[in-house]
Amino acid sequence: MRDIELYRQLLGLPNPWYVDGVELSIEDRRVEVFVEHEEGRLWPCPTCGDELPLYDHSEERQWRHLDTGGFQTFVVSRPPRVRCPRDRVLQVRLPWAEPRSRFTATFERFAIDVLKETDVSGASNILQTSWDETWGIMERAVARGQERKERRVPALLGVDEKAAAKGQTYITVVSDLEQGTVEYISDERKQASLDGYFEAMTEQERAGIRAVAMDMWEPYVLSVRQYLEKPEEKIVFDRFHVMKHMGDAVDTVRKAEHRELRAEGLDILTGSKYLWLYAEENLPSKHRKRFRSLKETSLRTTRAWAIKETLRGLWRYQSLAWAMKFYKQWFFWATHSRLQPVIAVANMLKRHLYGIRNYFSAARITNAAAEGLNSKIQTIKKMAYGFRNREHFKTAIFFHCGGLQLYPATHANAG
Ligand SMILES: [Zn+2]
Repeated sequence: MRDIELYRQLLGLPNPWYVDGVELSIEDRRVEVFVEHEEGRLWPCPTCGDELPLYDHSEERQWRHLDTGGFQTFVVSRPPRVRCPRDRVLQVRLPWAEPRSRFTATFERFAIDVLKETDVSGASNILQTSWDETWGIMERAVARGQERKERRVPALLGVDEKAAAKGQTYITVVSDLEQGTVEYISDERKQASLDGYFEAMTEQERAGIRAVAMDMWEPYVLSVRQYLEKPEEKIVFDRFHVMKHMGDAVDTVRKAEHRELRAEGLDILTGSKYLWLYAEENLPSKHRKRFRSLKETSLRTTRAWAIKETLRGLWRYQSLAWAMKFYKQWFFWATHSRLQPVIAVANMLKRHLYGIRNYFSAARITNAAAEGLNSKIQTIKKMAYGFRNREHFKTAIFFHCGGLQLYPATHANAG
């Protein structure tokens, strides 16, 4: 097989395109594939689709393609232009690349696969592209996916705030708890942050929402109250968020107690912060021995921890009646613990009990999806040294969690 035929096949070039020549530069470790088209055919206008004769060519351009044997490989061509009576002079669609991209569609596909596995800097190293080029591929992939996305309103929503950067910059993330996908992101964590999501819907679409899982956060509660019918039956304060408050309470108790013990020269709590925050069965085995002996102490922290761990049992109940019976016992224990941070959380739960009860009614929400998404977003955030601002963080969340069709179209459906 001659090299020009080989590359025609590799590029999947349809008529009237063909490979006119291939140049290899050993010195530059570079392959250039020159692509030409046959004369005398009509080209569809990229806007209206009318078949038109060739008008002229744009300047010669090149598109980065998949490497050949470790050599960077470029498609080189002069894109034809047509003059459409309606749409002016325009460049026709090329079968190997999307408009305005400097990469072939095949290369972008590969880059997207790499980006799914690593961050932008890592992908840049592997692909030998600049940070901006790699970022551009991610951004276009998300835009493409959003455009293709079918309009659909999830029945079970999750609403969450995320700290976007250092300081107090937040974003609001709305997810589909059945699909495990992020559906909507807006700035801040205000009522308006969530209002925007509901405002874009018809009344009928809003009526299809059965439940909204969220933290006990007043602005979000107010938004749901404003837009959904019977909000007091649909708001769910889920395990994930409730347990986060309990974890904070345990940590506050630990900090105060640690300070007092240190003053007496005791360092039993030193370095124990994260041990108390794990769900007990998730505690890494290397910490088990130490934690077992900590658990046997009569420290205030141990008591706070036991109250936290017991509360997790609430969501294991199937029936609302049994869950509430359990809750009442727990509430008595928590409020008689003489641990202020724990008492404060117990009272917060009491004030929001309607939304905790809803978990056990029609709106039973699986925590697994919410918690899975949450850890995914945490991972994205850890890679965020590569994200230069809040918009970048949002794009990356959609890229990894949006459930979008990210790949560029191949020539078969490029028109
Ligand atoms: Zn046209």
